[in-house]
Amino acid sequence: MNAEKRRQIFERLKDTNPEPTTELVYHSPFELLIAVILSAQATDKSVNKATAGLFAAAGTPEAMLALGEEGLKAHIRTIGLFNSKAKNIIKTCATLASHHGGEVPRDRKALEALPGVGRKTANVILNTAFGEPTIAVDTHIFRVANRTRIASGPTPLAVEQRLLRHVPKEFRKDAHHWLILHGRYVCTARKPRCGSCRISDLCEYPGKRLEGAA
Ligand code: SF4
Repeated sequence: MNAEKRRQIFERLKDTNPEPTTELVYHSPFELLIAVILSAQATDKSVNKATAGLFAAAGTPEAMLALGEEGLKAHIRTIGLFNSKAKNIIKTCATLASHHGGEVPRDRKALEALPGVGRKTANVILNTAFGEPTIAVDTHIFRVANRTRIASGPTPLAVEQRLLRHVPKEFRKDAHHWLILHGRYVCTARKPRCGSCRISDLCEYPGKRLEGAA
């Protein structure tokens, strides 16, 4: 895909949603971190439902440690993999309290050293909590980037690196949310809604169906 097409795609995505953000509900970098850890293989909606009560009971690492693993599990039981997520969250809270003064560090290496936090989660925190132009490649972004040819690659890391190289600078901070939302609601996995897609004329997916038979 050429640079001009890429620019037009992001101009249109911006036009549709000038200030995109996450659908996870949070009030601090700490709450966002916990919500993102919980969201692995779970919907944002199911996470929000659980965290409404959880964050009212424990909105800091110290409060989460006081709640304890069993107390935490009582709030997140409806979320997949809740046992291992609870373990990781308690360990993460202990590290935040002992090494970072109870704050979420604005540093990739420190974030990736936290239990349950990988590159993707670190990218989300750096981007959404701290405003850095990182791009977390999840399943939606991986699919949309490859389909459209905005950034093709065999792995999430390869796609992330291509996106960082090729997305025009002024769109880089919000690219992650635009592409996620586009993948979640328009360029869906099984039946992309090409007929109502705002970038269909620019998309290079050979399988796109412009007649709109979604
Ligand atoms: S035209 Fe179809 S395949 Fe291309 S981005 Fe839009 S929905 Fe996805």
